[in-house]
Parts: sequence; structure tokens; C-alpha cells
Amino acid sequence: MTELLYQKDSYIREFKAVITEVVDDFVVLDRTAFSPTGGGLMCDTGTLTTASRDVYKVVEVISRGGKVKHKLSPIPEAEIQGGKIKGKIDWEKRYKQMRLHTTIHSISGTLYKKYGTTVTGGNITPEKSRVEFDIDHLRQERVQEIEEAMREIINGNHMVTVSFLEREEALKDPDLIRTKVNLIPESVKILRIVEIETVDRQADGGVHVKSTKEIGTFVPLKTENRGKDKKRLYFTVRP
Ligand SMILES: [Zn+2]
Repeated sequence: MTELLYQKDSYIREFKAVITEVVDDFVVLDRTAFSPTGGGLMCDTGTLTTASRDVYKVVEVISRGGKVKHKLSPIPEAEIQGGKIKGKIDWEKRYKQMRLHTTIHSISGTLYKKYGTTVTGGNITPEKSRVEFDIDHLRQERVQEIEEAMREIINGNHMVTVSFLEREEALKDPDLIRTKVNLIPESVKILRIVEIETVDRQADGGVHVKSTKEIGTFVPLKTENRGKDKKRLYFTVRP
């Protein structure tokens, strides 16, 4: 198992770890601040530096069966297994993803409160993001309502907190039921809960900013009708 440092503190940019496995061009670490691909987010990139000062680029990060696998360039020699490394993530790209991700959760909470609707999909890239939901239409006035709600949330400087909850407790929480906490595999006994004070609360494994003020400015880009339950909103955030 890899200890997921980014789940406890999304602001760790550099960390020390030990290489526990080398498989082809991937290494597994005992602990990592690199967030893997998943949950609509792209993985982090960055570097690993060995004790003998060899620097590897981390070009891809995936999570498999509790192990976080870091794809390196150049391809690592098997001898680096057991060695200590210093990891450094590309902070600019990561921080933008944190801001976009907290925005998606804020939109999710807003839509539920305003229209009783739920988010059905989403995707985040460092440039822009999209969120999909089950709603009758996404015409201009509704986009403006979402923009206005986001402005209030950002100006309101709501705290974003992470806690860990036992599965049985989570299944009793109305906010978590709404966000389909029951669909998380039963093997997961402790759930990570991300709460945006008074805005949104859901089980989530990804990286977030610690207050909505850090989002900056919410900028809607365009809308797309992809079917009855798939109204898409593309957006980005600016400083
Ligand atoms: Zn999320």
C-alpha cells in the first residue's frame, strides 16, 4: 500500500519516500504526494531524484490495488528498488487542478440547492473543465445564475475541509447519500469526506484548495446539450 500524502494535505509539493518496487518503467513508492489519474482529474507530473542525484521525470501516475505507480523517464534500472528518493510535483499544474476541482464541487452543491439536480459527469484538465448534469436546460440566464452563485461562494471564502468517516456512518448521512456514497466499493471501509462549508459535502479522493477564495474568478466558457441528463458546462478559473 502507498500512503497517500496528497489526501491529507494537498499543499505538499516536495516529499521523501522509498522505492518499494520497480516494474518496467514504473516505480511504486511507500508514500507519495503525486495524485494519480482518476475521479475526473489528470495525474500530477514532476520529478524523482535519487540519493545519487539521478533525476527522473514522472510522466504518468496511476493507482492500482492500493499501490501508486509512477511512470518514469528515462526507464529506471531495477537496482533503484529500495532506494530513497525526493519527489517534487509540478505545482503550477497541480494548483490549477485543485482550484478547478473545488469549483466542480461548488457547482455541484449549488445545482442541488437551486434546482435539486445532480452532477452526472465531469472532467478536469489544467486549461479548462467541464461538468455535466441532469437538468432541463442550460440557457444563458441559468449560466448567469451559476456564475452569480459561484461569485458568492468565492467571495464568501468558505473553508474546504477533509475528514475520514467509517462507511457505516457515511451511509446514514443525507448529503453523502445524495452524492451516491453507496456506489463506492464495499471493500472501502474508511471514506474520505470533502466538505465545502455550507456549500457541498461528498466522499472524494482528489485534491482541493483549502478555501473557496483560492479559486480566483470563475469563467463560464460554453454550454453543450448532450442529451436529457447531460447538459454540459465548460469553464475555467483565472487568478
Ligand atoms: Zn471530486
